Amino acid sequence: MKKTDSLDDRVNDTKTRDTVVNMLNERGVTLNDIAELTFDLQKKYIEELTMDVCTDHVERVVMKREVQNAILTGLELDKMAEEGTMREPLKTMLQNDYPLYGIDEVLALAIVNVYGSIGFTNFGYVDKLKPGVIRRIDDEGKNSDRCNTFLDDIVGAIAAAAASSIAHRYA
Ligand code: MG
Repeated sequence: MKKTDSLDDRVNDTKTRDTVVNMLNERGVTLNDIAELTFDLQKKYIEELTMDVCTDHVERVVMKREVQNAILTGLELDKMAEEGTMREPLKTMLQNDYPLYGIDEVLALAIVNVYGSIGFTNFGYVDKLKPGVIRRIDDEGKNSDRCNTFLDDIVGAIAAAAASSIAHRYA
């Protein structure tokens, strides 16, 4: 058995899964919100698709270590920007979701990357149309003291990755 598959590692991934899901919940996003995005992305391709299947695949995505690390990093940076515990010039860039910053999208690519090129297409689609919870996150970031610069991309990327995971399964 590979070292990365050891029981200790799996236990740690489960613990971290709870940590990152709590972090998302604290930012007002549930796995169900993300599963709804996944459902919207895949329903036109798979007639028999259910929300249960989408939720199951979102769960698989948040069990991946690369995904967990991206969530930990992005949401921590949003929080630090919001609290002002970060130095300039990054603080102002994140607080204002500066359009030329771009690292929020790059970090999110680490999530979709796990599921290959189909993930990139799904992510681009979510990023452009801003459906469901993404729109809410975006508006909240613009109209309040909340900093959601990384959150929107992370949520979109998890939904896109879960959609790709489903696509691979039903291909
Ligand atoms: Mg963003």
